[in-house]
Amino acid sequence: MIKAMKNKSLELLTSQEVRVVIGYEKGTKCSTRPSFFFLPEDIERMVFDEECKNNLAVYLTKENIKNYGRLAIIANDKTLQSIVKLISENQIREDNLFVLTPGSEDGQVIVLNSIEEIKSFVNKSIPSQKEPDSVDELVARIRKMSREERWKYWQDEFARCIRCYACRAACPLCYCTRCTVESSQPQWVPVASHVLGNMEWHIIRAMHMSGRCTDCGACAEACPVNINLQALTRVVRESIQDEFNLTTEEYLEGNNVLSSFKPNDNETFIR
Ligand code: SF4
Ligand code: SF4
Repeated sequence: MIKAMKNKSLELLTSQEVRVVIGYEKGTKCSTRPSFFFLPEDIERMVFDEECKNNLAVYLTKENIKNYGRLAIIANDKTLQSIVKLISENQIREDNLFVLTPGSEDGQVIVLNSIEEIKSFVNKSIPSQKEPDSVDELVARIRKMSREERWKYWQDEFARCIRCYACRAACPLCYCTRCTVESSQPQWVPVASHVLGNMEWHIIRAMHMSGRCTDCGACAEACPVNINLQALTRVVRESIQDEFNLTTEEYLEGNNVLSSFKPNDNETFIR
């Protein structure tokens, strides 16, 4: 796999079809970390294995990365779903992007060049790749709680939040250049880490992710105090799918129910 991924990346850089490849290299310990490959000789450092879990789509909305123009990105299944959302929200241009992802055959690399190609690949391949993980158990437990128990559960969890915003930085869909929680004039949310301000921050975040979160888990992975934010956004996502009768495919393909409206909607306040 890595050989094919390196060959394709090398080909794109050598032919100058792209100016940078976003991928992974070995970290200082045993794990892997995101890396940027600008020159053909840089490709030597590239790795790609089951440890490559970071959602690299988070870099695609950064201004300094956009300035490179055409680029390639190595995408696991979570990254693919984020890219679909980012294109459908007009945050990135599909004609600037080469998406490299593992195919179903051993050592195969698939190159995807458009949102249609990515969506079709995601719909065909991802359901079979999905494996149960610990977030499933937590979501099932939360769903069985009463409203009061849920409120208590999240209050206790968010009391541990140190407001480092690593979850925000890791999320590909949290791309505002200025976040409400950092506004000081007026200051909507207290900056210090305490229960009230933490609740406000997390409720704002959950609302902004409603109907948009792709369930990649990068936020939970990034949290230094192990708050499972993916469970929160997944419960919200499942509720939205139930309430609006959306299949997973419809949800992923840009039906952002809390950020769109139809002229004939009953609620007049949104017009
Ligand atoms: S799981 Fe977390 S990081 Fe991933 S899209 Fe949802 S909120 Fe963002
Ligand atoms: S990463 Fe964890 S500790 Fe940091 S702001 Fe997010 S929830 Fe709080």
